[in-house]
Amino acid sequence: MPRCPVCGDPIELASTPAAPFCGERCRTIDLGRWLGEAYSLPETRLRESDDPDQAVAEE
Ligand SMILES: [Zn+2]
Repeated sequence: MPRCPVCGDPIELASTPAAPFCGERCRTIDLGRWLGEAYSLPETRLRESDDPDQAVAEE
């Protein structure tokens, strides 16, 4: 069974309108995190395209 990536609760995709999250609250939280990362890690994103070998090693 898939789990909510925010709180880790198991969810049923068929009966969860906010899937893959357990609810609107967790979906909003995840969106906020994702936007925060996009703004705070521009240097990492650039470096990955410059040096693919290093990007793999860091992963
Ligand atoms: Zn959740």
